[in-house]
Amino acid sequence: MKVLIVHAHENPDSFSSALLKTAQATLIEKNYEVNVSNLYTQKFNPIAGKHDFTKVSEAKHYKYALEQFHAHQNDLFINEIKIEKDKLVEADVLIFNFPLWWFGLPAILKGWVDRVLSYGFAYGGDYGIYEKGRFQGKKALMSITTGSPSAFYTKEGVHGRTLDDILRNTQEGILGLVGYEMLPPFIAYAVSRSTDEVRKSYLENYKNYLNEYF
Ligand SMILES: Cc1cc2nc3c(=O)[nH]c(=O)nc-3n(C[C@H](O)[C@H](O)[C@H](O)COP(=O)(O)OP(=O)(O)OC[C@H]3O[C@@H](n4cnc5c(N)ncnc54)[C@H](O)[C@@H]3O)c2cc1C
Repeated sequence: MKVLIVHAHENPDSFSSALLKTAQATLIEKNYEVNVSNLYTQKFNPIAGKHDFTKVSEAKHYKYALEQFHAHQNDLFINEIKIEKDKLVEADVLIFNFPLWWFGLPAILKGWVDRVLSYGFAYGGDYGIYEKGRFQGKKALMSITTGSPSAFYTKEGVHGRTLDDILRNTQEGILGLVGYEMLPPFIAYAVSRSTDEVRKSYLENYKNYLNEYF
C-alpha cells in the first residue's frame, strides 16, 4: 500500500513537521510505502496559469479549466505538475499535513489543489464527482495544527463554529468531491501555547490514530 503525504510547512523543526515525521515513521513501520511532497522544499509554485502547460489550445477564449482538460487529453502538463499527478495516482492513501491558515489551507497547498487536481484528470470528462470521483476507493485525511485552542472552535466559542464546519469545504468540496473516502481529521490544537508534555501526547495520539485506521 502506498501513501502520499502533501506537507505544507516551511520549517522542518515545526510541530507540523513533527506530525509529518510521526506519520512517516508509523506508516513505514506498518510496511506502507510513504512518499512525501514537501511543497516548500520543492519550491512548489502555487499560482495556476498558462505556465502549467507546455502548449495551450487554439481556443479563441483562454480559460484555465478548459486548458487543463486539453492538457490532460494531449499530455501537455509541465513536469512539476505531472510528477505530482503520478504520485497521486500511485497512492492508496492521501494525507494533507498543514497548519490551519485563515480557516483553510495555506496558499502553497491550495495552489497544489488548484493545479494538480485538474479538470479532466481528477473530475469531469471520464470521471464524475463524489462517489463517481476519480479517487473512489481510496482514503484521505488531514493532519492539522491550529493557533486557537479547541474551546474557540465550538458554537459558543470565539469562532462560533466547530472545526468540522470550517473544514467542510476541504473535506467535502475538495477531497470528497474527487472521490476520496474521508477519515476524520487529526487536529493538534494551539500547539504553540501548549506545554511540551501536551505536544508529545499529540504525537502519541496521532500515532495511535494512524494505527487504528491503518
Ligand atoms: C497566515 C496565518 C493564518 C493563520 N490562521 C489561523 C486560523 O485560521 N486558525 C487558527 O487556529 N490558527 C491560525 N494560524 C496559526 C497557525 O495555525 C499556527 O501558528 C500553527 O498551526 C502552529 O503550528 P506549527 O507547526 O507552525 O507550530 P510551531 O510554532 O512550529 O511549533 C509549536 C511548538 O512545538 C514545538 N515542537 C516542534 N517539534 C516538536 C516535537 N517533536 N515535540 C514537541 N514539541 C515540538 C516547537 O519547538 C514549538 O515550540 C494562522 C497563522 C498564520 C501565519
